[in-house]
Amino acid sequence: MNIVIIGNGVAGITCAQVARQRDADARITVVSGETDYFFSRTALMYSYMDLMSRRDLEPMERSVYRKQRIDLVRDWVVDMDASASTVKLGSGSTLPYDKLVFAVGASPNMFPWKGADQIKDGKVHFVSMQDLDDCERLTKTSKQAVVVGGGLIGIELVECLLHHGVKTTFLIREPYYWPMALGREEADYVTEHMRHHGVDVRLEEEMTQIQVDAAGRVSGVVTNTGETLPCQMLGIAAGVKPNVERIKAFADAPELGRGIKVGPTLETNLPGVFACGDCAEIHYPGQERPLTELIWYSAKRQGALVGGNLFGDAAEYAPPLFFNSSKFFEVEYTTVGSVMDAPDNAPTLYRKLPGKYMSQRIVHDGERVIGFNMLGSRWNHEILERWIHERRSAEWVEKNLRSAQYDVEFGRAPLHKHDVQAMPLNKEWP
Ligand SMILES: Cc1cc2nc3c(=O)[nH]c(=O)nc-3n(C[C@H](O)[C@H](O)[C@H](O)COP(=O)(O)OP(=O)(O)OC[C@H]3O[C@@H](n4cnc5c(N)ncnc54)[C@H](O)[C@@H]3O)c2cc1C
Repeated sequence: MNIVIIGNGVAGITCAQVARQRDADARITVVSGETDYFFSRTALMYSYMDLMSRRDLEPMERSVYRKQRIDLVRDWVVDMDASASTVKLGSGSTLPYDKLVFAVGASPNMFPWKGADQIKDGKVHFVSMQDLDDCERLTKTSKQAVVVGGGLIGIELVECLLHHGVKTTFLIREPYYWPMALGREEADYVTEHMRHHGVDVRLEEEMTQIQVDAAGRVSGVVTNTGETLPCQMLGIAAGVKPNVERIKAFADAPELGRGIKVGPTLETNLPGVFACGDCAEIHYPGQERPLTELIWYSAKRQGALVGGNLFGDAAEYAPPLFFNSSKFFEVEYTTVGSVMDAPDNAPTLYRKLPGKYMSQRIVHDGERVIGFNMLGSRWNHEILERWIHERRSAEWVEKNLRSAQYDVEFGRAPLHKHDVQAMPLNKEWP
């Protein structure tokens, strides 16, 4: 069998490895225009902050591809011919396939802000290796920056800029930081933490105009308050979307929606053509809203599932219990299950440790726990997940919480019982 995978991110490479386990003789080719080798996108910030070399971002030894006979091609796929079962590369050559996998990831959102069409330089995103190149180049000649967009990528970019001594303003359109993921209480102290680090955080403030100098480099932004913020770098971190722009121009293409439309087995409308990872828009029969999951762990699971389905498994993708972990500067963050997407006014047990950037939020439905938002210390997400599956009550979880806490080597963070507050989940916004 001749398998072609477009995209060498976690979805594409996991798919290739599973396919190799299934068939020692299959020809497996992974094409990617971004980099020669798979790298950890989630660790981009550590390279920008000079804490990791670019080579260290690669989770696997380069010899693995040779040993597993996974052929890597550095090029962009620019077209496909479904009837001839070929894809066309930017270099002009074509690759035939028996099975084709789109694992093309996500791309950053950009909106038609006034002045955006005048920009020749100074605007960055923080998603790709080329974005990192831009960031590193521009940092050298920037004293001030503005970052737009109050999510995870935004805060990472802000932290990197600050690390390099660039005075940074963080424009957050919403009344508090990252309402999709955090309750107001957590968001308020993450904001306080950012300000403590010297970030100029502006809530409910958005960019209305971009200014450029005579050479077309960003020189400032105007906000909805009328203020002009001078800057030499403008970071746009206003979310990401499935990366389908290039595919829209293909003569033949699988059916597209917001992403590449697939059914539960992650096969597109074209037989033998699959999509997985950030780019996949999964439609389940009887469900109105399709599922797109733009997170690492899901991309890996979807890639593995497609790796088997290439060989006729017909396994259906069932989204796992949501889990994510990250850091807001020094504040550890672990989330499991349903939190901000929990039913309206789901009861919450919430506590913040006095004087520390540390909090726990346990969301339940009156009978059983359905989600956790844990900030400021490290938690074993597998235990938290198990408690949700075991349908443990909030009282039981509260009593046993300590056993899920990781910070043993530093002395576990204290859990002061008297600080626990019962409150409804904040549903004021939007
Ligand atoms: C800064 C940052 C921080 C993040 N932090 C977290 C986190 O803490 N937790 C978490 O769960 N997720 C995080 N994510 C999201 C996570 O990185 C993604 O969900 C994951 O990498 C998606 O993997 P993927 O394989 O689907 O796509 P990608 O890793 O995007 O790989 C797709 C590849 O395909 C290439 N490609 C696209 N089109 C073509 C074409 N036509 N021809 C050839 N090649 C093509 C792309 O250039 C890219 O290299 C973060 C993302 C970013 C940018």
